Amino acid sequence: MNRVYNFSAGPSMLPLPVLEKAQNEMTSYADSGMSVMELSHRSALFTDIITEAEQLLRDVMQIPANYKVLFMQGGASQQFAMVPMNLLGNSKKADFIHTGSWSKKAIKEAQKFGDTRVIASSEDKNFTYIPEVDRSMIDPEADYVHITTNNTIEGTAFSEIPDTGDVPLVADMSSNILSEQVDVSKFGLIYAGAQKNIGPAGLTVVIIREDLIGLAPETCPTMLDYKTFNDSGSLHNTPPTFSIYMAKLVFEWLKDLGGLKEMELMNREKAAILYNYLDASDMFASPVEKSSRSIMNIPFIIPNHDLDATFIKEAKAAGFETLKGHRSVGGMRASIYNAMPIQGVRDLVDFMKKFEADYL
Ligand code: PMP
Repeated sequence: MNRVYNFSAGPSMLPLPVLEKAQNEMTSYADSGMSVMELSHRSALFTDIITEAEQLLRDVMQIPANYKVLFMQGGASQQFAMVPMNLLGNSKKADFIHTGSWSKKAIKEAQKFGDTRVIASSEDKNFTYIPEVDRSMIDPEADYVHITTNNTIEGTAFSEIPDTGDVPLVADMSSNILSEQVDVSKFGLIYAGAQKNIGPAGLTVVIIREDLIGLAPETCPTMLDYKTFNDSGSLHNTPPTFSIYMAKLVFEWLKDLGGLKEMELMNREKAAILYNYLDASDMFASPVEKSSRSIMNIPFIIPNHDLDATFIKEAKAAGFETLKGHRSVGGMRASIYNAMPIQGVRDLVDFMKKFEADYL
């Protein structure tokens, strides 16, 4: 078996024990003689899978009872539209904190449904920091405030969740859900595409406070109304059954290794190894302000050198995959989600040290 260290921003690495368990159960799940992919979504076996998946996520994230977990499709991108379609019920105003390419897309989509206002932005410095957000900046009439807790492309993350008072806080948590402890009660709605810390692509997880369900206008398409998913236990139509099963295995893995407390410690340790090297290196550097750095996506650059392509090529040959930065920002990026072993980060740093010695 020759697994590589895959630094992709998503879809990204899955824990090896999860892949192996799925492999073992692939052709006959629970002695059914069928793969999970072949099970009816209405079967007892699949009902158990989706029920357990929800319960495990509730346990791991300590989701309060007045929050619902919805298993959906369409990615985080569909949530960019669903959130305003469902939540812009009163003032039709929403406040946004603009921290990068993904928040830009969320704002653009929401503009189709109501009045959006950017109350804080880091665009002035190329999104290399997280702007200050004060409660006084928030329109008390707004139907919600939207943040992107971790900016996958720019490599920034909120170190503190803004206090939005009575205005519901909506968070795109696609790239840092399950990476650290989080107080769900601070949010009105959390959404995340699965393909980073949850499981395979095709599944979108929405965690929504009960009172925010049922606010969509009658013209809202059935499949774009949170109420549809809530009323049917995410089984109005055929859900992404295999992705939900894989997510269940990932949640089990996470719970067994000690939950989010332990995961956060491991993630902070991994990120520190890479940042400490970047800050000490004479060749590589982090473009992100220290207080705003993500522990999931770590962009890095080689200033004044034309070595990016050489670095990426040699890294690939040495077993470090997908280190190219996003096409919009260039440079390199190491995405080190939950499933990236600490050894992967150690080995990457050793490789970078050698590269620095060879080329500087
Ligand atoms: N938001 C963030 C923060 C992301 O990282 C991504 C995907 N990389 C998206 C939204 C879009 O997600 P999807 O492809 O699931 O629509």
